[in-house]
Amino acid sequence: MPPKNVSLLGLGAMGSVLASTFISHSYQTTVWNRTPSKAEPLVKRGAIFTPQVAECIAAADVVIICLLNNDVVIETLSAAGVLNSLAGKTIVNLTNTTPSQARETSKLITSHGAEYIDGGIMAIPVLIGTPNSFILYSGAEAAFNRVEADLAHLGKPRFVSAEDPGRASLYDIALLSGMYGAFSGALHALALVHSTGSSLTEFTDELLLPWMSAMVPQVSRLGGQVQSGEYLNDGSPLAMQEAGIANMVATSREAGVWEGMLAPTMKLISMRVAGGGGNEGLAGLVNEMGLDKHS
Ligand code: NDP
Repeated sequence: MPPKNVSLLGLGAMGSVLASTFISHSYQTTVWNRTPSKAEPLVKRGAIFTPQVAECIAAADVVIICLLNNDVVIETLSAAGVLNSLAGKTIVNLTNTTPSQARETSKLITSHGAEYIDGGIMAIPVLIGTPNSFILYSGAEAAFNRVEADLAHLGKPRFVSAEDPGRASLYDIALLSGMYGAFSGALHALALVHSTGSSLTEFTDELLLPWMSAMVPQVSRLGGQVQSGEYLNDGSPLAMQEAGIANMVATSREAGVWEGMLAPTMKLISMRVAGGGGNEGLAGLVNEMGLDKHS
């Protein structure tokens, strides 16, 4: 069996862990980073550092990019000789981007004779290589099938679209939105309880986590309702929720806590109720999210 090779561009918090994971799986790992010193711990473990981006790309058939953002990716690919080094390579870009940026990068890279896979990492560095890490991919499906087993070392691969290289990015952003929404609510809950001086550990472990764990699975029903257009209230109509959320705002103010985390949800509920959706459930709010309703 030939030795397994991989190249990585970018050794930040995430890129370093990606490189380290490949080294642990006995890949000949070639790395490039703007700040060379970040490669030192990896070189000690057997990685090869290349000072030139094109040299790093030339070292392996599969090249993983994990840089800060799309601007940095484009700047890095624009260095002398880099685009001409891409022919025949499989480029896997795990940098967080927007869907349109992913599509543009796909065009740029494929126009130079490489295959392009865009990815969205659904994990933090400490979770890479564990069962709790998964990574979304879209783009060149045949190339993905060839490298899937290699990518699986980083986290469970989930290929979401061959037609649209931007789809992994869209799903990535949607999942982050779910996480930030849930965390925003949890932070607001912590601020309310913190204002009383009560134990936050007890509140978090004994009340908040069991409550959120019981409620989060309801998301699955919401998805089905949005898909079907039947916004069943399941016993909790929006008209009732509108009254309840007003109490949440009032309680926040009484506690000296900014209510801003709740404001968008309250606004959407009021819009929906005013438009005749008082008997619907939360899924009806998706209809109020079009930009045309918020100009
Ligand atoms: P870091 O900020 O730790 O690293 C950023 C990387 O980009 C470094 O390699 C840095 O090089 C490089 N970089 C920044 N600006 C430039 C520039 N102008 N020219 C060349 N290189 C540059 O970020 P992470 O490693 O954490 O994240 C990398 C990607 O992974 C991001 O898109 C992030 O959204 C995504 N991601 C990160 C997660 C995380 O929890 N960390 C989770 C999921 C995705 P240098 O070392 O020289 O500064």
